[in-house]
Amino acid sequence: MASGRVDLDGNPIKPITICMIGAGGFIGSHLCEKLMSETPHKVLAVDVYSDKIKHLLEPSSLPWADRIHFHRINIKNDSRLEGLIRMADLTINLAAICTPADYNTRPLDTIYSNFIDALPVVKYCSENGKRLIHFSTCEVYGKTIGCFFPKDSPLRQDPAYYVLNEDTSPCIFGPVEKQRWSYACAKQLIERLIYAEGAENGLEFTIVRPFNWIGPRMDFIPGIDGPSEGVPRVLACFSNNLLRREPLKLVDGGQSQRTFVYIKDAIEAVLLMIENPARANGHIFNVGNPNNEVTVRQLAEMMTEVYAKVAGESPIDTPTVDVSSKEFYGEGYDDSDKRIPDMTIINRQLGWNPKTSLWDLLESTLTYQHRTYAEAIKKATSKPVAS
Ligand code: NAD
Ligand code: UDP
Repeated sequence: MASGRVDLDGNPIKPITICMIGAGGFIGSHLCEKLMSETPHKVLAVDVYSDKIKHLLEPSSLPWADRIHFHRINIKNDSRLEGLIRMADLTINLAAICTPADYNTRPLDTIYSNFIDALPVVKYCSENGKRLIHFSTCEVYGKTIGCFFPKDSPLRQDPAYYVLNEDTSPCIFGPVEKQRWSYACAKQLIERLIYAEGAENGLEFTIVRPFNWIGPRMDFIPGIDGPSEGVPRVLACFSNNLLRREPLKLVDGGQSQRTFVYIKDAIEAVLLMIENPARANGHIFNVGNPNNEVTVRQLAEMMTEVYAKVAGESPIDTPTVDVSSKEFYGEGYDDSDKRIPDMTIINRQLGWNPKTSLWDLLESTLTYQHRTYAEAIKKATSKPVAS
C-alpha cells in the first residue's frame, strides 16, 4: 500500500504523524478514511465526537488500528492539545462552527470557535516549529463585485467581477448587524494571523478555502441523528425534505448560486497538500469545482430528480416551496450571491482538478442518504403521536 509512493517531484514520501483537530466531522472523517486506506501516515484524531469515524477506530483488528488514535478533547479548554501538536509533524485544524443557521443565532459561539479557539493552535504550531494546514472558507470573499452592478448591467456577466481569486479578489462583507458575516470575518482574521505568523516568525502554513464540499456524512438529519429543530447545511436540509416527502424550502427564492464539489475529489487536493509541503507551504488554496455551478433552486430540482431515481419513488406534486430568510434563519441572515473559485493557484502548485459532475456526486450521495436514513425516517414518522 505505502511502499514506493512519491510526491509530485518524484521524491519518496516519508510517513508522518498528523494531529487532526475536528477529525470527527464531515471533512475530517473522509480525510481519516483516505489517510488510513491509502497512506502510511499516523493520525492523532482530536474531536468532541467520534461517531463519523467509529468505523475507522473499531474493531482493533483493523489493518490501520495502530495508526489512528482518538482523543476526545474540546480544544477550548484542554491542556493536552499542545502535547499532541508537539508529537505531530503536521497539524490540520478543521474544528469550527460552520453552519449558516448558527451564524446569526449563535454569533458569539461562531466568533469564538472560528477565531479565539483557533489561536492556541496557531501559537503552538508557531512556537514548536510545526507545520499547519488551516481550514478557512470561501465565505471570506463575501459578496461578488458583480452583485453591486444594476441588474441589467452586462458587467455582471464579466468573470472579472465574480470569479474569486486568492491573490486579487477583495473580501466584501455586509453590515455588522447582518451577523452572517461574523463567521467570514472571524475566518478572515485567523487567516491574517496565520499569514502574519508566517511572515514574522516563519510558521509553515497552508490555508484551505473550501467551496461547498458535499457528500456522505455531511451534517445530520434532524430528528434522526441530530436535533429535530436543528437546521443543517443545504445538502442535509434538502435530503431531509426528500426522505420525508416534504417540499424543499427555497430561501428567498433560491436565487443564490453555488458551485459544489464532491468530497472525495476535494480530499485528493488535501492529500496533495499534506504530501507536497514545498509546493503547498505559504499558499492559500481555493478548493472547489467551477464546472458545477447551479442556483439553489436548480440544486433542489436536480436533487428531486436524482432522489426519485435512487429511491424508486415519484416526486411529490409540489416539490419546492418559497420561504423568507427571516422565517428560515431569523433576523440578521444575509447570503453570498455567487461562488466560482479561480483554480489557477491549486492547478499550478499541485496539478489538482476536480472530476465529478454534480449529477454523479448527487447520485452517490443521495444513494447513501437513502440507504442510511430511509428506514429510520419511516419508523419515526409511523410512531403514533402521544395525545
Ligand atoms: P463539521 O462541523 O462536520 O466538522 C467540524 C468538527 O470540528 C466537528 O466534528 C466538531 O465536533 C469539531 N469541533 C468543533 N469545535 C471543536 C472544539 N472546540 N474541540 C474539538 N472539536 C471541535 O464541518 P466540516 O464541513 O467538516 O468543516 C471542516 C472545516 O472546513 C471547518 O473549519 C469549516 O469552516 C471549513 N469549511 C467547510 C466547508 C464545506 O463545504 N464542508 C465549506 C467552507 C469551510
Ligand atoms: N438554503 C435553502 N434551503 C435550505 C437550506 C439552505 O434555500 O433548506 C440556501 C441558503 O440560503 C444558501 C444556500 O442554500 O443560499 C447554501 O446554504 P448552506 O447552508 O449549504 O451554506 P452556504 O453555502 O450558504 O455557506
